[in-house]
Amino acid sequence: MTNSTTRRTASYGGRRPVKSYGDDRVCETLACATKLSRYNSTSHCVLHQRQDG
Ligand SMILES: [Zn+2]
Repeated sequence: MTNSTTRRTASYGGRRPVKSYGDDRVCETLACATKLSRYNSTSHCVLHQRQDG
């Protein structure tokens, strides 16, 4: 009988700076001018992000 206790990682070590990736970025796909959120770590918009892999 295995009693698997799900540990909740509720220990956020203090304040961490919000990572931003730049303000004026657009999707790298040609002919796509969708602006990317500064918090979006990818370089493509939602439509052009790779879904596979
Ligand atoms: Zn795009």
